[in-house]
Amino acid sequence: MLCVLAFPMCSLALPKRLILGLDGIAYRDLKALQEGVVTTNLWGKTLHRQAFTAAEGYFPVSRMISTFPSTSDVAWTDIFGDRPLPGYQRTYFSVAANAQIIINGITTTMEHESQMSWQLENNMLRTMGYMYPVHTYAYEIHETISSFWDDTNDDNFYVYIRATDDAQHLDRNIFDMLCSLDQQLQEMRARFQKQEGRDLEILIISDHGHNHADAFKRVQIRPFLEKAGYRITESILNSNDVVLPTTGIEDWVEIHNSPAATPVLVPLLTGLEGVDLVTGRDPNNPNRFLIMNSQGERADIDWNPTNDTYRYSPEQGDPLNYQPVVASLTQKRLLDADGFATSDAWMAATMTNPYPLAPERIAHGLTRVTLNPATILISLKNNYVHANWLILRGADLSTFSSTHGALDKINSDGVILANFKPTHDTSSARVADQFDNFPGLRNFRAEGDGAEFISREGQALTRIPHEPLDRDYQSLPANEVFLRVWSPQLTQLDNNAPVNVTIERVKHFPESPNPRLAPKPRVLGRQLALHQLATLSDPPPYERIYALPSDLDLRPLTEYRISGWVRGRDKSVPLFELNFRTDSQGRPVAY
Ligand SMILES: [Zn+2]
Repeated sequence: MLCVLAFPMCSLALPKRLILGLDGIAYRDLKALQEGVVTTNLWGKTLHRQAFTAAEGYFPVSRMISTFPSTSDVAWTDIFGDRPLPGYQRTYFSVAANAQIIINGITTTMEHESQMSWQLENNMLRTMGYMYPVHTYAYEIHETISSFWDDTNDDNFYVYIRATDDAQHLDRNIFDMLCSLDQQLQEMRARFQKQEGRDLEILIISDHGHNHADAFKRVQIRPFLEKAGYRITESILNSNDVVLPTTGIEDWVEIHNSPAATPVLVPLLTGLEGVDLVTGRDPNNPNRFLIMNSQGERADIDWNPTNDTYRYSPEQGDPLNYQPVVASLTQKRLLDADGFATSDAWMAATMTNPYPLAPERIAHGLTRVTLNPATILISLKNNYVHANWLILRGADLSTFSSTHGALDKINSDGVILANFKPTHDTSSARVADQFDNFPGLRNFRAEGDGAEFISREGQALTRIPHEPLDRDYQSLPANEVFLRVWSPQLTQLDNNAPVNVTIERVKHFPESPNPRLAPKPRVLGRQLALHQLATLSDPPPYERIYALPSDLDLRPLTEYRISGWVRGRDKSVPLFELNFRTDSQGRPVAY
């Protein structure tokens, strides 16, 4: 009120830009819809549909080439330039802990989700998305719009809509859903125009495509590997142990194995029915990757990370059919004396290729899109999927009609669509360049309580600094693990006040048939006070970084729980509780 009286111009302003992250919208679908789609409905009536047209002020849709694998968490993390996640999926293999770790995909929220101004946080509704995707989508759009009108703090309003992906997996009509979104956005723009006297800027981004395959067969990778003498397990102890983290129903596979087994496993896996391409890390050269197709053709990809250049060297045949690309790069004198071209030259030469940006995406996929990269990544043919038996028991594969994850363009080509400036074709690692690195993402650490273990090496993979630590991490000592704690409550506390933690072993008791006889978990924790690390130059008031004592004396390769609190003015304030594993030396593992 005071503000309005004193400064009539500083009225509470709405955001200028609405950024909609629509999960899984394919370039070919949105392009078709911009041009006009003719379909026949159940009663044989011909329908003509068009949306996001030039007449409405939208520019032509551009391609947003996904990561490899072309999956949501990995791609969104790359789009926003965040620190890579521990795994490609929410069940992942931790190299340092030598264990498969399962985190609940419904109840956990990843960095890219927490950064949104609005996203569906309700666990029950998230689950509903898998059963009633169209209703959940309608709810998501409705909530987005109503929370937009309540926001008067930000220039950019970020939203993540996940039901668009669920809906396509379940064969709902994506054209219907996009047309209804277009309609709602038009109404929103009209109201905004009236209220603010200018057009609302709209940006739509998606993270990958969708293959709209007709029918799926499940790849028989487990029996295939077992027959070949491999043991599918949860930690790698021998050269024939493989870990196969699997959460969704998608057309790619991650394999973790002892590095020495990779040169044997890659050619072996080309014989598995449903495989299109197998890629693997060369055990002797961290910047060399093998690629083979189902005909046994083989090439090497070499990466020079210093200047981000790539070389494609066919050894036998041409698994990616990239010889014409190499010829065109040669002709344009874009290859150096050793046969390397820049990532941008490869991007320009392969943007519309059946395997877009393959050298860069394979190299990044096997090294840096996650903190625990696989030794082998498989891209499947479009009528095959990989799924574990638990998922298949719950979901009939015949109700499931479209997926993504593979390296080809049908799976990989997402979208960028705007009404305020023309966009151009790009990739998940570059899209932020067109939008000032996505300023004003929600700083969730300033608003809520939480904690995580971090390391300098993990933080160094953050591509776009959004928070002070994204730059400050460089002053962290190398090869150590730190506890990062955040809470608005910390802003009122003395900087030197310690955080008190309890560390206890997590015991997984076998399920007892009689719950009354089941042993009660006992807290036999060790309590200690941690003191803030003083080396950071620009610590925000809501965040503390704590070093861990060297004499923690924890068991190797074991799961623990750490919980922490601080002494407030007259009571202790609980801040966080999280589980962690130890490495073979008994030190906490950051990821
Ligand atoms: Zn997605």
